[in-house]
Amino acid sequence: MKVKTLILGAGAAGMFCASRAGGDVLVIDHAKAAGEKIRISGGGRCNFTNLDIQFSNYICANPHFHKSALSQFTQWDFIELMAKYGIAWHEKTLGQLFCDESAKDVVAMLRQEMDKAGADLWLQTEIETIQKDGAHFHVALSRQGRRVVIEAENLVVATGGKSIPKMGATGIGYKIASDFGIKVTETRAGLVPFTFDAERFKALAGLSSEVTARAARGPAFTEGMLFTHRGLSGPSMLQISSYWREGEAITLDMSPKRSLAEFLKSEKRGAGKKYLTTILGMIFPARLVEHLAGVMDMSGNIADWSDKRLTELADQLHAWELIPTGSEGYRTAEVTLGGVDTDELSSKTMEAKKVKGLYFIGECVDVTGWLGGYNFQWAWASAAAAGRAISA
Ligand SMILES: Cc1cc2nc3c(=O)[nH]c(=O)nc-3n(C[C@H](O)[C@H](O)[C@H](O)COP(=O)(O)OP(=O)(O)OC[C@H]3O[C@@H](n4cnc5c(N)ncnc54)[C@H](O)[C@@H]3O)c2cc1C
Repeated sequence: MKVKTLILGAGAAGMFCASRAGGDVLVIDHAKAAGEKIRISGGGRCNFTNLDIQFSNYICANPHFHKSALSQFTQWDFIELMAKYGIAWHEKTLGQLFCDESAKDVVAMLRQEMDKAGADLWLQTEIETIQKDGAHFHVALSRQGRRVVIEAENLVVATGGKSIPKMGATGIGYKIASDFGIKVTETRAGLVPFTFDAERFKALAGLSSEVTARAARGPAFTEGMLFTHRGLSGPSMLQISSYWREGEAITLDMSPKRSLAEFLKSEKRGAGKKYLTTILGMIFPARLVEHLAGVMDMSGNIADWSDKRLTELADQLHAWELIPTGSEGYRTAEVTLGGVDTDELSSKTMEAKKVKGLYFIGECVDVTGWLGGYNFQWAWASAAAAGRAISA
């Protein structure tokens, strides 16, 4: 069977590219349904983009690569599409846009866009072999127990990363790239909770607080942190996990918006004889104070603490250093860092420089966004770039 364009993967990038590639498109996926990650994203409401897309909100070996695609298809373009379908949304925090109703609305919109463009979708279809013979790709697929060979002028790899294998992630895009002699950078789990020794934070599980967190490299993030049975999670932890490497420490400012030195010194002047832990209990949950008192000296009465010692304690609480034992890995990671080396791709079209007609889009490319709708915006933008080139 012949098509102009075969798209591997019916996720965010694959579906969107299918609607923009100018017809005669077949999209295949081994899953039972298209857009499964969209469906579960954002707690079922899909954080589909961000009002404030900055190039610096992306991690990529080449910090300029993603600029072209993101400039050609912006958050406003996707918001306009949502408006056409009457899908209501709201800003939750930090420019993050979520559907008012359900992430399923975004999946349905993409399906309709595909239908309008006349794109075909085959689900529960496995990829067997991929070859290029002259100007054409020959992709052998297995569908309903039958082997079908598709001949295509363009092959778009939109098979995502390795995150959440239970949801169908296979990392096959990296293998396809390697098989064509295209370099792939080291891949790691990103936007993922940290793990610690089993007992470490058990008593604190369920507590959350706002912190400023930073890894040894990368920016600091002031967002929520959640203690879990296994370690630390919440937006601030997911954000810094993308910059963290095994064995490195993370630093938490437990009171990002209030100077603890000033607070403690002023309480000492006004409170007279009160336990230091009681004073800290005014701003931190009791369970957290109990835990912190086990790892830092907070003994005795605040009246007996010199201003210098109070300042030292405050400094410790503003820069609490912890070394995670690891991360939850691909089992729960929202994204895969690294991927198809951007030096191998045209930033304008996402086409491989070495292999005409071969495109890589979405998460399988070495471009990873922060938490907050940046990854979907990359999926839409890179898909639009490839679609535009194919339909030209
Ligand atoms: C729990 C969770 C929540 C998230 N929430 C958000 C959010 O709110 N906002 C945001 O911006 N990002 C979010 N993300 C990240 C976002 O989902 C991804 O960045 C985005 O889905 C990447 O799109 P993609 O099309 O490249 O890959 P995917 O959406 O992963 O699609 C890849 C497709 O390829 C198919 N596939 C894989 N291997 C094969 C194979 N061997 N054969 C055939 N088909 C194959 C898969 O079944 C899948 O359908 C979240 C991720 C997770 C895991």
